Amino acid sequence: MKTLTCVVIGAGYAGIHTVKEIRKRFKDQVNKHPLRLVLIDGNAFHLRKVLMFRPAVTNEDIRIPLTKLFPDEVELVQAMVLNINAVEKKLVYVNDVGAEHEMNYDMLVVTVGSVIRQPDSDQGGIALTSLESAQKIRSAWLSNLQQAASESNARERERLMHIAIVGAGISGVETAAELAYYARRDGERLGLDPQAIRIELYNAHDRLFLDGPAKVGMKLERLLQDIGINTLHNKRIIKEEDGVIWLSDGEKRSVGLCIWTLGLLPNPMIQTIGLPVISDGHVRVDVSYRVSDMPGVYSIGDCAKIVDPLNGHVDGKTCKEAIPQAARLAKIMLADLEGRQAPVHESYMNLYSIGLGPGKGLTWVNKWGIDFVITGKLSWKIKEYTWDAASMLTT
Ligand SMILES: Cc1cc2nc3c(=O)[nH]c(=O)nc-3n(C[C@H](O)[C@H](O)[C@H](O)COP(=O)(O)OP(=O)(O)OC[C@H]3O[C@@H](n4cnc5c(N)ncnc54)[C@H](O)[C@@H]3O)c2cc1C
Repeated sequence: MKTLTCVVIGAGYAGIHTVKEIRKRFKDQVNKHPLRLVLIDGNAFHLRKVLMFRPAVTNEDIRIPLTKLFPDEVELVQAMVLNINAVEKKLVYVNDVGAEHEMNYDMLVVTVGSVIRQPDSDQGGIALTSLESAQKIRSAWLSNLQQAASESNARERERLMHIAIVGAGISGVETAAELAYYARRDGERLGLDPQAIRIELYNAHDRLFLDGPAKVGMKLERLLQDIGINTLHNKRIIKEEDGVIWLSDGEKRSVGLCIWTLGLLPNPMIQTIGLPVISDGHVRVDVSYRVSDMPGVYSIGDCAKIVDPLNGHVDGKTCKEAIPQAARLAKIMLADLEGRQAPVHESYMNLYSIGLGPGKGLTWVNKWGIDFVITGKLSWKIKEYTWDAASMLTT
């Protein structure tokens, strides 16, 4: 019996869960469907992207070596996939030393995810887009606080202790909350008044939490206020230059550090890899995640546009969508191999869990048309659990 090669591209949340679920589904199928499972990623690690703010506030390493997640039975390839040839069922990749190779596949899962939106290079500040930028942010606020501790000019000291976070999505909120805890703790250690560290969250919209009800957005804003974060609505920052942020209404404000958290964009390489792309830059798939006109190719996670066939709802771009998609996909792949009817996509329940610094959080669930809100320690525990489960750190 021919061993089938199944290649998963991308070791983000969708990719690692796809590999895990395929292993689970195909475990008892070795005699029927012997499988070679390959996971390709540009990195040798899974990046815990949802914790990107952590290296901006502490020394925490948010990388998990893929060999730790998959110590056996999965072939790990560190390489960037450049192209997929659906006719010949092969892909081209360039490995970590720059050599180009080809690999044949029988089944292929594309989970190349999204990239974090960058401001233009002349807009100043630091965008929280990568491990390196997170570390830059940490060095910048630490260095500002150190300077503030010995600064005699009150206005300059005030400027150095002012941090502006531009973009009030979940990433901006979580970054602000972690900074409120860690920058104030470090400020105190340096002999500064922690309350004099000003953290402002600039929101281009008129309220927080556009993915849920207004009252939950207001609750979130109050919780941020409680930890000393001021939210400014309808404020658009144009640029930061020489310690000054410029707002679209002409206003200027002094800041020590400007951090951009501008949300996600589809991975631009989807446009060149050889997959069918819809106008918003996502991969076109059917209700069972099959890529149009490419037999044996599937796509899930942030890079695919997935629509609920029952209500037309477009799936969100978060882990809580990607992980159930991965579980369903493994069943779909087995059903397709066996010529059986495959499952189709179903939306996940409306749920958001937002971390508000150590020991604090807000969880919102909408079930049976009712809003449930959990705050405080329990919500933090839920958030910690979901962070860990998403990166397969729980058993
Ligand atoms: C700062 C931040 C905070 C977030 N917070 C939350 C949160 O609290 N909760 C939540 O549910 N979601 C959150 N999200 C969203 C969540 O991170 C994404 O929905 C999730 O990462 C999607 O998983 P994915 O596997 O589709 O893509 P990704 O996690 O983006 O993974 C894509 C993988 O593909 C690899 N790759 C890309 N191109 C290639 C190529 N050509 N060849 C080989 N490998 C390639 C990349 O290296 C990467 O490992 C957050 C996102 C950010 C940026």
